[in-house]
Amino acid sequence: RLPTVAIVGRPNVGKSTLFNRLVGKRLALVDDRPGVTRDRREGDAKLLGLEFRVMDTAGYEDEDPHTLPGRMRQQTEAAVRAADVALFLIDGREGLTPLDEEIARWLRAGQTPVIVAANKAEGNAGESGRLEAFALGLGEPIAISAEHGEGIVDLFESLRPFV
Ligand code: GDP
Ligand code: MG
Repeated sequence: RLPTVAIVGRPNVGKSTLFNRLVGKRLALVDDRPGVTRDRREGDAKLLGLEFRVMDTAGYEDEDPHTLPGRMRQQTEAAVRAADVALFLIDGREGLTPLDEEIARWLRAGQTPVIVAANKAEGNAGESGRLEAFALGLGEPIAISAEHGEGIVDLFESLRPFV
């Protein structure tokens, strides 16, 4: 069985875009509108010689994040619990939101190791968001651009101890 990486984060941070880049097939639905990833998607990823199973999750994409956890959110939380590492994406351009903080609280309380990545950080665009993300208390955030394929070496180095 391959080690498993669960990509988690609030809507629209680029989870499905990263999933597609890692898996190399259009298995996850990507859309500008939040909430379009309806299911858990999984596929085998290759990253500079690392091989792992990657899961694209959608469980924090509820219309109203303050409602009680729904079925999708339970699925996402189960995926994170079962994963060898969680890759927690934030939007490096927008910086932290209350939902990011809520997800971080949940991740800090769990047992699964977490890597924080500030996405949409092509060029230097995500640096302020990346620095802000230190406050999540989940270690040193890395900067990536799922869309442009930047930060891949840092992602590799971060994942390597866990997969
Ligand atoms: P998800 O809701 O977290 O699965 O996010 P998606 O993968 O569907 O992406 C949401 C939006 O962000 C889409 O319009 C993507 O094209 C865009 N996006 C994803 N990754 C990047 C990135 O690295 N840079 C920029 N500028 N946009 C991105
Ligand atoms: Mg998605």
